Amino acid sequence: MARKDSMMALRQILIRRRDALRTALAGDLSLLKELRQQNNGDVIDAALDTAQDEISSQLAEVESRELTHIETALERMRHGNYGKCEGCAQPIPLARLQALPYATMCIQCQREAEKSGDLPAANLNRILDLGVADSEVSAGDLEIDVS
Ligand SMILES: [Zn+2]
Repeated sequence: MARKDSMMALRQILIRRRDALRTALAGDLSLLKELRQQNNGDVIDAALDTAQDEISSQLAEVESRELTHIETALERMRHGNYGKCEGCAQPIPLARLQALPYATMCIQCQREAEKSGDLPAANLNRILDLGVADSEVSAGDLEIDVS
């Protein structure tokens, strides 16, 4: 398959994933609101509510982080610089994009950036990091979130 065709396929994957995440996040938020409204004063129920609340907000945080990566990738597609490494400006190998459609660097530059601690994605993670360990991030995120 030509690189351009593969890009089109990746765009479809990203859009579908983005829509799914948006739906999930919208669901999580309404669930959180429901839990708060059902606050009935029972200590055990309140503890369960809190646990459920925490799980939901942690999931929402992981999902919103991935959503940010995906939206950045789609933005880069609109500007025609998707698939170009932010480090060395070389095309990112297709196999890497297929494994991680929102990668913004080739593996070499990603590793360099991680070593120097100068990684845009890492800054983003710090802002969004509300206590979820990076090890809990989905397998698809591994190349970005090596800790
Ligand atoms: Zn590179």
